[in-house]
Amino acid sequence: MNDDSGSKQIIDVLIIGAGLAGLAAASDLKSQGRNVIVVDKGRGPGGRLASRHIANASFDNGAQFMTTRHPRFLSQVQQWIEAGVAEKWYSSFPGHPNSHARYRGVPTMTAIAKNLAVGLDVRCSNQVTSISSDESFWFTLLENGDTIKSRALIVTSPVPQTKTLLAAGNIQLSSHNKQRLDHITYESCLSVMAILDMPSALTPPGALMLNEGPIAWITDNQQKGVSAIPSVTIHASGDFSSRYFNEDSNASGGLLIKAAKPFIKAEVKEFQVHGWRYSKPVNIDTKPCMIANEDTDLPPIILAGDAFDGPRVEGAVLSGWAAAEALLCYI
Ligand SMILES: Cc1cc2nc3c(=O)[nH]c(=O)nc-3n(C[C@H](O)[C@H](O)[C@H](O)COP(=O)(O)OP(=O)(O)OC[C@H]3O[C@@H](n4cnc5c(N)ncnc54)[C@H](O)[C@@H]3O)c2cc1C
Repeated sequence: MNDDSGSKQIIDVLIIGAGLAGLAAASDLKSQGRNVIVVDKGRGPGGRLASRHIANASFDNGAQFMTTRHPRFLSQVQQWIEAGVAEKWYSSFPGHPNSHARYRGVPTMTAIAKNLAVGLDVRCSNQVTSISSDESFWFTLLENGDTIKSRALIVTSPVPQTKTLLAAGNIQLSSHNKQRLDHITYESCLSVMAILDMPSALTPPGALMLNEGPIAWITDNQQKGVSAIPSVTIHASGDFSSRYFNEDSNASGGLLIKAAKPFIKAEVKEFQVHGWRYSKPVNIDTKPCMIANEDTDLPPIILAGDAFDGPRVEGAVLSGWAAAEALLCYI
């Protein structure tokens, strides 16, 4: 049994994570009349859809674009375009003609998350430290000492972080669901955000994908329309990132800038490095979300995120919607 003395009310659903999965789930549940709170440890919504500003330069630091396959997601992207927070970036670039259209956030990728968060009760800078339950309710303990009591829980943190939360609360899932979680793995990504002394030499649309070497991807943020001044985002390959993730970030950033020089030509005036420990799920689950209370006595708890419906922006949103639909059978 748990101390719920900090709970002032009982809500229908508490969602951990204001990335796209959490926000998509919250949006659907709210539209069905459910009382929902979303909490996130980050300073703003978006999760891996992140942007950063350094001096007068702006960067998309996490996801660079979104693609659309599912009709509902395509329709959602059209709504974002109409709302002025997304636009088509490109459909093909040298070496990759006529591939899926790539859509970007306007002015940055974070705008999409902010748009989805409008009208929702999203509480950022609120880290969840543990979750626990009795036979009817969930008790979510926040770092600030508050506890939120809810009839149901949706957890959208990257799966290793979700497993830590489950373990902290001694929450036992069925052995089948435990196996499903253990199957999911992620790769890391070191991201360099660099201000240049002149426009980069990348050809339009300002995106370069590399299949070998330390770099996987370079975006020219100025060509993309994100940055007012010349700047690039460089994403390291999975191999480089795992090798250098815990090394000195300035030194790793320097190696990546050196490797990028033949493509960007310009000199780097200033740079910062961000490490995404759980950048992209590599082994994903086979279902769009996990009904984690299945075969247990736990109150409803659904796990969602890109590890369940595909390692991309679209997968996260579809997983969030699937989580909301699954939960509506219980509450
Ligand atoms: C470098 C990089 C490049 C990418 N490029 C692309 C791309 O070009 N196209 C594409 O489609 N996808 C791309 N992706 C993948 C895409 O960003 C993700 O698939 C998607 O954003 C995942 O959304 P999510 O909601 O599942 O998870 P997240 O966005 O990770 O959201 C989970 C949230 O949970 C919060 N959280 C975790 N633990 C706690 C806690 N204890 N308490 C409170 N909050 C917590 C986190 O702060 C986070 O905001 C990229 C990702 C990275 C990192």
